[in-house]
Amino acid sequence: MSNSRQLNKRLFFGVAVLFCFIVAACGELSSQTVYLNGKTMGTTYHITLPSLTDHTQQELAIIVQQELDAVDQAMSTYKSDSIVSLYNAAQVGQVVAADEATLFVVKQALGFAEDSAGAFNPAIGPLVNLWGFGPSVLADDQIPSEYEIQQALAQSDYRAIVVHHNGLGKTAPVSLDLSAIAKGYGVDVVAEHLLELGITDFMVEVGGELRLQGNSPRGSIWRIGIESPGEAFGIPFEAILISNKAVATSGDYRNYFEADGVRYSHTIDPSSGYPIKHKLASVTVVADTSATADALATAISVMGPERGMEFSRNRALAVFMLVKSDDGFVAQYTQAFEAYLELPDANGVIQ
Ligand code: ADP
Ligand code: MG
Repeated sequence: MSNSRQLNKRLFFGVAVLFCFIVAACGELSSQTVYLNGKTMGTTYHITLPSLTDHTQQELAIIVQQELDAVDQAMSTYKSDSIVSLYNAAQVGQVVAADEATLFVVKQALGFAEDSAGAFNPAIGPLVNLWGFGPSVLADDQIPSEYEIQQALAQSDYRAIVVHHNGLGKTAPVSLDLSAIAKGYGVDVVAEHLLELGITDFMVEVGGELRLQGNSPRGSIWRIGIESPGEAFGIPFEAILISNKAVATSGDYRNYFEADGVRYSHTIDPSSGYPIKHKLASVTVVADTSATADALATAISVMGPERGMEFSRNRALAVFMLVKSDDGFVAQYTQAFEAYLELPDANGVIQ
């Protein structure tokens, strides 16, 4: 029995592809365009500033790295001294001091959990670890047993998380996993800071979560590719034209392992304790903030194509899905998403 556990971390490649596409779409790039790239939250970030006048690249590079590292230091499950890790080690009844940012993100996460009837679950950590996608190092060749899954599920009730005025408590053994919202929040923090500095044109991306503001280097609104999952991975499936909005994509093709030919996604269905397994290959959400787009993309991924589409339509969300079919992928999107699709003009030309 070959049961080799292989993590396919294709995220970096995905992001690289996205950028090639943007650059290819840009044509003549302005020589003033500034790029800030780096690493944070176990992934990479890329920032594009089409024109920079009042601030130096160096100054901004320091600010951006500091802002993102602060989010990581508060919300990482990989850093043992992060606020989230201290919370996770705390006992029932204890209150762990938390900064405003963490309290804000936890409150938002709990709001998404309620609204999605638990599909988005910021207490899913024990299951994420059990399936080998968290900080715990697992032995190879290990699919969790039903007993282990039930044990982990019993410790994944987000309703046991209590947000106090300046700290976080728990009413039962529970832990926090903000991985499906923290990158988006990091994007928002950087975007807000750039806006405060009077910078009106930018793209901020952390681990595939994006925020687009003003114009791109080609002098018009941003053009972004939605990745093709599967065989055509790397070739944009669709392009969207967008500005002053955030975009996030969740996909089962990005981070998974395969055992005995079965693909296990890093997104867990909290109602079963198993990785999602349905025909929804990717979900792209456009929202005002990146934290919202990030969390909703994961929530809708968990719901699957039918329930996810109903949820999105009921809330007038801008959502684009790629659903596996017998011979590839079928695109399905909400009416609110249509506004962003790059459609041919009257002459059939895509600009
Ligand atoms: P994606 O781009 O696929 O949405 P993210 O990194 O944004 O990926 O989110 C995936 C991470 O979220 C997982 O690695 C895990 O830590 C966490 N997670 C998994 N399932 C859920 C869930 N049902 N609700 C909230 N967070 C989840
Ligand atoms: Mg996400």
